[in-house]
Amino acid sequence: MSERTGKNPVEEIRRDEIGEALFPVISREDPSFWIQSVDIGTADFPYIEALLRESFADWQEQNAGFSQDPQVEWFLFSHEGEAAAGDPNLILQLKKEPRHAGWMSLARRESVIVPPEHHESEYLRGRATLAVPIFTRSGGDVFAVLGCSVPEAEAAGMPRLVEMGGAHFRTCFYQRLEYSFIHDTLYTKQAGATALSGDSALFRMVRRLYDKFNVDGVLEELLRIVLVLHPSARCQLLMTQDYQSTNPQLKAFLLDQRKRDICTTAFMQGSVEVERIPAPGHPERIEAALPLAGHQGVYGVFHFTLDLPPERLDTHLLGMIADTAGKAFENAKLYEQSNLLIRELLLINELTKRLNQNLQLSDVFSFAIQELVGIFRAEYCCIVKDNPEEQRFEVMACSLPELEGASFSRDYGFGGQVLRTQEPLIVSDYLESSVPSRFMELGEARSMIAAPLISNGKTMGAVLLAQREHHYFSYENFKLLQMLSTHIGLAVGNATLHAELQRMANRDTLTGLHVRRHLDERIHAHQLEGSKGALLVIDIDRFKQVNDTYGHQIGDSILQQISSIMKSSIRMTDVSARWGGEELAIYFPETTLDEALLVAERIRSLVEQETEPSVTVSCGVAEWSQDNGTISVESLFYRADMALYQAKHSGRNRIHTALAE
Ligand code: GH3
Ligand code: MG
Ligand code: MG
Repeated sequence: MSERTGKNPVEEIRRDEIGEALFPVISREDPSFWIQSVDIGTADFPYIEALLRESFADWQEQNAGFSQDPQVEWFLFSHEGEAAAGDPNLILQLKKEPRHAGWMSLARRESVIVPPEHHESEYLRGRATLAVPIFTRSGGDVFAVLGCSVPEAEAAGMPRLVEMGGAHFRTCFYQRLEYSFIHDTLYTKQAGATALSGDSALFRMVRRLYDKFNVDGVLEELLRIVLVLHPSARCQLLMTQDYQSTNPQLKAFLLDQRKRDICTTAFMQGSVEVERIPAPGHPERIEAALPLAGHQGVYGVFHFTLDLPPERLDTHLLGMIADTAGKAFENAKLYEQSNLLIRELLLINELTKRLNQNLQLSDVFSFAIQELVGIFRAEYCCIVKDNPEEQRFEVMACSLPELEGASFSRDYGFGGQVLRTQEPLIVSDYLESSVPSRFMELGEARSMIAAPLISNGKTMGAVLLAQREHHYFSYENFKLLQMLSTHIGLAVGNATLHAELQRMANRDTLTGLHVRRHLDERIHAHQLEGSKGALLVIDIDRFKQVNDTYGHQIGDSILQQISSIMKSSIRMTDVSARWGGEELAIYFPETTLDEALLVAERIRSLVEQETEPSVTVSCGVAEWSQDNGTISVESLFYRADMALYQAKHSGRNRIHTALAE
């Protein structure tokens, strides 16, 4: 070792501390013994370039008088004969020189002197080159060559000087090596010791891994732990399943078994893998991959690079951490999954309960839209209903008001596709899809999931959810929508059935006209909000006689004929009803008595002309308005009935109007 005073990094570290900590058994008498066995092997040679350069600089600094003689130009070559350090001009010339002492010494493993006449270049005219191989401590391998060029006149005294220089350089080199080794060892020792002590930061971190109940939390904790152990580590986590994480260090692991890289090996074999990476300027760069494994499988690989020789990486400790992280990850994942399941069950329960409270179809649709948007945090939702007879589908409810009530061909859009195929659909990026969609375009959406609405085994509609961001919906979202749409389908089915029952209950089976209760309700509702209306009551003349003459069946047919004359004579908003046996009625909302009279007259004459066998009817008409009289259904009926009575008494087949109150 050199007689170096001043700052020596090795001496700065107390020897007993190192010796005690790492080799408590070895040689207590000479605590520095162990460090003298630190060495490099041929496998390390490609990575010592920086160390050579730095040692050369140390050597030059320590030998100012000797190595910086202007007559002597020095060079240092690596084990492969590549220039590692030295006089730049000389090095440039030596590259062109087929024979010089550096290469020859490397090849012969001994000191060499090459006289001027053996050199070809102008630069070396009249100069000799000398070189000495530098051997490793233990293996006796040549890891570098130190040499110089001198004027021929001075060459005679040089060989011994160069040998001395070589010995000194070697000392400088090993000093550097020992320093970097001690530095890393101490570092690892500190980290290791910390990991093992119960109240240490690392121990607490590992424990925190287990406290994390979310997958992201576990992964971030793992990244943090490795960075504490190796602050210079460049890490990434490769996960086999897709996680929506904002952490840029989290990446998808696309397993390609044909490519046997370090991550694939770690993943497939569940083993800690460490490899040296040849990287210029970084003599000791390694790459490591740790499998993130739980009891049920391997979830990913923790991959990092580090400037450290592989033998100094505590793979055992890292393996333990990866193992702990894998288990913690699995726990968090299971916890998340069971939470998700519970949430889904609660959601389905709540949705079903609330959906079934709404028996109005339109309420079911708008409630479902509102709920789905909330559950999936989606921007847009749309429910469409199939209309197979017309080969179209209609938008029943949509969070985009422009689309509400719109109708499209069954060939069109994602709605059409779901109805045709009866299959759910997931679109990650609309820009890459060839299906045109108004829904997506109006919302400027890029992600979409859709599911069919099935009721009684029949696809009767579809539900679509969309979001502006691409790749927004997860596979879990997709599955959940399918499950929820089953329940929405059931609720829609129930509401449709309910509506049909209601329609049937409101209709008279013989004539298809509304029943009296419905007529009463409609008049009552209109009297609450409208301004005026007219009621026409119709009674078949001498109907008992018709029955007696032709029989009840013909009587029924007459009732049906008159009903269809009534239906075809009125507007959509008018309500026709059978309010007694052969007594029929029509209510005209927002209509005056005179207007109603016109309709009454048309019906009277059509009945007279068109019924078979021919019958006639008598009619009574009454009106109400907000401006005068008692407003009630009973009063209106009473007055219309009185007018009818008068029509009967004044000869039948005519219309009478009730006097205003
Ligand atoms: P008018 O009204 O002109 O005074 O004589 P009318 O013969 O029609 O007398 P009324 O109103 O008293 O008789 C009603 C008859 O209508 C009695 C019943 O046999 C008949 N009727 C009531 N409902 C039905 C029905 O649903 N089908 C048939 N075929 N007949 C019915
Ligand atoms: Mg009658
Ligand atoms: Mg009658």
